[in-house]
Amino acid sequence: MSKTYSILIIEDEHNISNFIAKTLSRNGYKTTCAYSGQEGLSLVASVCPDIILLDLGLPDLDGITIINKIREWTATPIIVVSARIQENDKVKALDCGADDYITKPFGTAELLARIRTSIRHKNGSTTENLSFVRPYEYEGLKIDFSSHLITVDDKLIHLTPVEYKILAYLASNSGKVVTYTSIMKNVWGPYIDEDTKILRVNMANIRRKIEANPAQPKYLFTEIGVGYRMPDDTSCPSC
Ligand code: CA
Repeated sequence: MSKTYSILIIEDEHNISNFIAKTLSRNGYKTTCAYSGQEGLSLVASVCPDIILLDLGLPDLDGITIINKIREWTATPIIVVSARIQENDKVKALDCGADDYITKPFGTAELLARIRTSIRHKNGSTTENLSFVRPYEYEGLKIDFSSHLITVDDKLIHLTPVEYKILAYLASNSGKVVTYTSIMKNVWGPYIDEDTKILRVNMANIRRKIEANPAQPKYLFTEIGVGYRMPDDTSCPSC
């Protein structure tokens, strides 16, 4: 790893915090720990981390407040760490600017994968959004954002304009979970109502067109109660 990335861990439970910090240090990251929301906020400003890991259950401030405050001045990726009982908060957190989430208990491999994805997105967003110009490619699926052509194993796929918009939005956020609200606002605009039926119908149609077996998708994964996730783009291994 050429650059040492620094990660701020905001987590009040010392054993979890220690576990994460040790795992990350062993994998070449520099870590800083905050044990409350207030301490976390001041360290975001003083340490300027590359990635923030934020526990949603902190004693002093709720996670949404912390995300809002961080997003007032920086786009540093935030990966939310939540317990299963905080499912609703997790969706809210993503909608107000968190980049991804990981649910406790989680394994080391999952945590490291989430961090790698966030770093890739962070780097991608600072290089003039090249990811948007470069086609998305993953195991036979190719999406060309400039020509709007989609192929699966070199076979051309015909999508409606709305289906294309949904797929392109998910692909440009590949590797990350994208919430229902975020997709709906991006595709239908800010005034779309909260009912996700129209999205689910379109998703079923897209799956029917691009997946060999829509019941066991290879490209479009459902994150139950949250949204959808497409696998990380493999067209540019160095990114
Ligand atoms: Ca906690």
